[in-house]
Amino acid sequence: MLLVVLGGGESGVGSAILAKKHGFDIFLSDKGKIKDHYKNVLVDFGINWEDEKHTEADILKADLVVKSPGIPDSAPLIVKLLELGVPVISEIEFASRYTDAMLIGITGSNGKTTTTMLTNHLLSAGGLKVGMAGNIGDSFAQMVAQRDLDYYVLEISSFQLDGIEDFAPHIAIVTNITPDHLDRYDYKFENYIASKFRITMNQTEEDYLIYDYDDPVIAEWLQNNKIHARLLPFSIEKKLEQGAYLEDNKIVITIDKHHFQMSTDTLALEGKHNVKNAMAASTVAQLLKIRKATIRESLENFQGAEHRLEKVLKIQNVHYINDSKATNVNATYYALDSMSTPTVWIVGGQDKGNDYLTLMPLVREKVKAIVCLGWDNAKIIETFGSVVEFIVETTSMEDAVRVSKEVAQPGDSVLLSPACASFDLFLNYQDRGDQFKEQVRKL
Ligand code: ADP
Repeated sequence: MLLVVLGGGESGVGSAILAKKHGFDIFLSDKGKIKDHYKNVLVDFGINWEDEKHTEADILKADLVVKSPGIPDSAPLIVKLLELGVPVISEIEFASRYTDAMLIGITGSNGKTTTTMLTNHLLSAGGLKVGMAGNIGDSFAQMVAQRDLDYYVLEISSFQLDGIEDFAPHIAIVTNITPDHLDRYDYKFENYIASKFRITMNQTEEDYLIYDYDDPVIAEWLQNNKIHARLLPFSIEKKLEQGAYLEDNKIVITIDKHHFQMSTDTLALEGKHNVKNAMAASTVAQLLKIRKATIRESLENFQGAEHRLEKVLKIQNVHYINDSKATNVNATYYALDSMSTPTVWIVGGQDKGNDYLTLMPLVREKVKAIVCLGWDNAKIIETFGSVVEFIVETTSMEDAVRVSKEVAQPGDSVLLSPACASFDLFLNYQDRGDQFKEQVRKL
């Protein structure tokens, strides 16, 4: 049985290791350059590989293909494989075939990483043998190959979901759905929505789907499609009989006759969006019967994820906050919403077809100055030029931070929340956030 792995990154190399363990013949091929670290791993495991090319004659012999989420289905090689009737699946699908552990799958447009980390934190605090994988850290496949765990908390992108056949998480979370990555979905939002909901397509009555009740896109989809899993919504707007809701600054979760309560004042993470993330994660913890005191303590002591509303430093009574992971408008919406002091907002980068108008009320209320940093500033200036007095364009992080410092007064905050991709001036969002922190530390 020949397994061809396309893509030699984290998920591809993980799949190859797992396949080796299960006796497949393997050929891994990457059209780009494979990182030295991964090459060494492939050599150590005796896996055949090539990079900087795809040798079609070898690839088309495959019985099964595991494809990296970065390769679109429309790539000519994939089209050929599908025409030949070769199954092309994602790493999540492949790995799930080799574990009996309980799977918790988390998808959505924003909040996946935070909710995944929170869930993992709650379950480990509860003493469960749990691993966190997927889009975050190690690949799921590698974990399945090398560790024997009872629970996996998986952060799952829509691209990974596009390549599933039988994957069925026992507990699925859909955090929210707003337009993103439409370039991979024929610019049709409905295709992207359908992709996200593949997370529940193989679930049965014994499984659970946790989702944002307040999200109109999710609500409409659930109305028009039949779901087998038991639904457990969370809401910050409406009192719900089952699931999680907010009452007098308290999170209340009801599952059957079991109740959980905790104050939002003591949550480690700030912002309404994080109340939602906490609701989703603690619903999982409740389902898995983690002690209530443990859930509360864990939500109080959780150390947030880097580059997500990360407090960097307070200098001359100005808070510097790194939200570089906000790569779309909706993420920035929640960042601005959580600001309680006048804000100097560093925004911009590579525009993904952004519509900034939804930010207008928040910008009016909270933003005193805008520092554009990126290629695509025209729309930002056009949208906010008449409501914010100070708008300036910069071309490096050093300049952006320096200008921000000049306009910020004691008591203000400087927030990097770009609402855009980072690939214009930076390697990725981590690089952008790291450069921000470096420049802030130099002030
Ligand atoms: P993802 O992994 O889906 O990209 P993250 O947890 O990394 O999500 O958060 C990305 C950005 O989205 C952060 O900048 C954060 O401020 C914002 N965010 C986090 N959770 C939510 C949520 N539930 N709804 C909307 N925005 C959110």
